[in-house]
Amino acid sequence: QAGRLDVIAGPMFSGKSEELMRRVRRAKIAGVNVLVLSHSLDTRSTLSAITSHTGVNIPAVPVGDVESLAEVAHAEDYDLIAIDEAQFFGPDLVVTVFELVERGATVIVEGLSVTFDGDPFEPMPTFMAVAEDVLKLTAVCTICGRDAVFHQRVGAPGHTDDESDAPATDIDASHIGGLEAYVARCREHFAPPH
Ligand code: ADP
Repeated sequence: QAGRLDVIAGPMFSGKSEELMRRVRRAKIAGVNVLVLSHSLDTRSTLSAITSHTGVNIPAVPVGDVESLAEVAHAEDYDLIAIDEAQFFGPDLVVTVFELVERGATVIVEGLSVTFDGDPFEPMPTFMAVAEDVLKLTAVCTICGRDAVFHQRVGAPGHTDDESDAPATDIDASHIGGLEAYVARCREHFAPPH
């Protein structure tokens, strides 16, 4: 019997990690066999945990790419597989997640729905289109307090908009960050860099 796909999407600071942790905590109380996966590129992840902006964390298995994610996820018969910061894995994640769902797992995919340019951030839009359930969260605009669907970079020490020194990979490491480099913005106050 096939499982299901649940999505938690939004900009930075929208509480995606908090919501993922809430669901994982509840599943563990219910005795569900849970696997939590995070991308090892995420600097907010320590070696074995995912951490929200409020500093709360839960144990997670860090994986560097879709191949190792698939390996870990298929190693055991997990009922619930939670993937944190799914956008870091790129579009190849889609096929792997579909396989896990078809095999019977409930997969929760949590990630950024937009880049800091304000564009849709694959693979989240694809997951949102075919999920059994989508929770789309907003952050709070740091200028006016309204619902923020975007996040943007702000000039942080040692940071410029020139990304020429970024790693030569599909995954843009500059999308990673905390309060110091990004702010949440509503539609009116969002000023994309390009
Ligand atoms: P996400 O995973 O979506 O980046 P987190 O779950 O890590 O979000 O963090 C959400 C928390 O961040 C909120 O509960 C709040 O305490 C804090 N926070 C800081 N700045 C903002 C903001 N501009 N809007 C909303 N929450 C914010």
